[in-house]
Amino acid sequence: MPHILVVEDEPQVRSALLRALADRGYATSWAATGMAALEQAVRDRPDLVLIDLGLPDVDGHDVLRMLRGVSTVPVIVATAREEESEIVRALDSGADDYLVKPFGANQLDARIRAVLRRTEAGSRAPQPVVVGPLTVDLAARVATVHGQTLDLTPREFDLLAYLAQRAGTVVTKRELMAEVWRAPYGAADKTVDVHLSWLRRKLGETADKPQFLHTVRGVGVRFGWAEPPTTGGDDSDAEAPLAGVDEVPPP
Ligand code: CA
Repeated sequence: MPHILVVEDEPQVRSALLRALADRGYATSWAATGMAALEQAVRDRPDLVLIDLGLPDVDGHDVLRMLRGVSTVPVIVATAREEESEIVRALDSGADDYLVKPFGANQLDARIRAVLRRTEAGSRAPQPVVVGPLTVDLAARVATVHGQTLDLTPREFDLLAYLAQRAGTVVTKRELMAEVWRAPYGAADKTVDVHLSWLRRKLGETADKPQFLHTVRGVGVRFGWAEPPTTGGDDSDAEAPLAGVDEVPPP
């Protein structure tokens, strides 16, 4: 069960929070001041800190900043100050989420679960992406087809990883330009086409007989494994080659 450190100076509010959390199966501990909260966050290593911004000794934002200096523990800020600037400040100071008082126990529980899900997912190494005989190891930045490592440039790897993670869906060139290159897409820009062509070559396929990179004419590409046809095959639907791309020589 996750351990929540509740930092709240008002005894009534604090005991209501502790009771609500205990009822929902959390282990709890509490602190009534910012300094005690820092000490306990380091000593007890809670799974999440719920902290009131209005504390008697140290401003909640300062507690948050000090906490971030010594710990990566997820933090939810509870504030009675409804001003947006307070919330923005708290998020900038390192809070993972916030609640504006008064809030219900169910909302508190939902926020805690969401933050824990996010932070746990973030701390786990990403799982390799598998598409047919292709495996993309995002952590090691290695891609293999049938166990053979592909010799990819960093950009080609990024492109392949982006497409493989979205296998089965159509991805536009504009999206690739924005997400893989972090650049706007110009109408005359052949960068995406060129890299797709190089990637296609390294994946060991041609535009005529695509196995992974399926051109969706006028839209973009759909990544997905298709067994190579054994006979003449009928893959005429929407599998037109990218215009001229296979003429581009490798780097
Ligand atoms: Ca308070």
